[in-house]
Amino acid sequence: MINNVLLIGVGGVGQVFVRKWDLLDPKPFSLHVASRRKSVCDDVRSQCKSSFNTYEVDANDVDSVVALIKTTQAKLVVNLALPYQDLSIMDACLEAGAHYLDTANYEPPDTAKFEYHWQWAYRERFKQAGLMAILGCGFDPGVTNIYSAYALKHHFDTIDTIDILDCNGGSHGHPFATNFNPEINIREITQRGRYYEDGLWKETDPLSVKIDFDFPGVGVKQAYLMYHEELESLAQNIPGIKRLRFWMTFSESYLTHLKVLENVGMTGIEPVIHNGVEIVPIQFLKTLLPDPRSLAANYTGKTSIGCVISGKKQGQEKTIFIYNVCDHHECFLEVGSQAISYTTAVPALLGSVLMAEGHWMMPGVFNVEELDPDHFMARIGKFGLPFKESAHVTLS
Ligand code: NDP
Repeated sequence: MINNVLLIGVGGVGQVFVRKWDLLDPKPFSLHVASRRKSVCDDVRSQCKSSFNTYEVDANDVDSVVALIKTTQAKLVVNLALPYQDLSIMDACLEAGAHYLDTANYEPPDTAKFEYHWQWAYRERFKQAGLMAILGCGFDPGVTNIYSAYALKHHFDTIDTIDILDCNGGSHGHPFATNFNPEINIREITQRGRYYEDGLWKETDPLSVKIDFDFPGVGVKQAYLMYHEELESLAQNIPGIKRLRFWMTFSESYLTHLKVLENVGMTGIEPVIHNGVEIVPIQFLKTLLPDPRSLAANYTGKTSIGCVISGKKQGQEKTIFIYNVCDHHECFLEVGSQAISYTTAVPALLGSVLMAEGHWMMPGVFNVEELDPDHFMARIGKFGLPFKESAHVTLS
């Protein structure tokens, strides 16, 4: 029984997790909140009505995390720190006997590589320990995987193609800023594009393939093909899938800034010596860019994210689009956040609640599309991210 949860990482996403948990009545579990700096945990506590303890922890240090799990007697650790900490927190969970949930797959700090194999290697150990680890329970990965599982369960006998389309149609008023951790975000966008077709992974130059798509709530935007981590697990977990692609919108201005930063070496992840001190260019860039949390107050517009899914039902070809539209300003009014952090934290909170209630509970390591989507889909609207389904959609 999970009655005690430890959250690690109180950045943009972690703050929303805490504020949304604060609004739950009754509370499905009590919460302990830890991050690299205790001060950020105390700040978010000062905005909440409910009480909880706060802690400082270095999540790279397995022993410290084990000690904290034991102190708090947490039965579930929600990892909303950075992907670099996934393995150390999973190790700590195994040692201290706690379940695990995250929103982004492990990345080694010195290589921009998004692959599940490091975390899938924990399957047997979690199973043997009678513990559950849920991977990628944000929006994408997360809700998009669950939309796919829901479509397979309720709309199709077989799925042929899934196109995940992610649009941030909002405006924060800065010439250049990222909506979540800039280092993680830029590492993701600057890598080569990759998609899955007929059993093979096919590569493209970064952001070299684009389509026009009419995003509900936003309008027609150009979306660029890029690799995203949920493609890897969906390729394994949607039987018979023929093609999987991921598309994201960027403004011309964003792409121009990014190109210049890349050309001058500011997005590099290799250390360089500057005035006798070793610095990593992308980490220095993070210091210069606006903190994603600070964007929320003046953010207007909407995010529009969903899956175009094609396949067959009783021999008939069909296509559906399942999506969510989320308004930046409404998120700010509700929990002081922008929509990117909101759409990531809310699924993580609902996933934690489903684990605590036992709806999602079995030993092993799972991507969310491997779990029954029904409880999640029945409740995600009430949690703040209602979905719509449409049969009228075209990809051009
Ligand atoms: P932030 O950088 O805003 O927050 C990360 C938090 O983790 C910060 O508070 C940071 O501390 C803390 N942290 C970093 N290193 C450590 C450490 N060693 N020990 C303890 N705490 C640490 O990132 P976001 O909130 O934007 O993103 C959080 C996670 O969500 C990331 O993994 C990101 O990839 C993921 N994400 C997933 C999405 C999805 O849809 N699936 C979408 C968006 C994000 P400090 O404040 O001191 O820096």
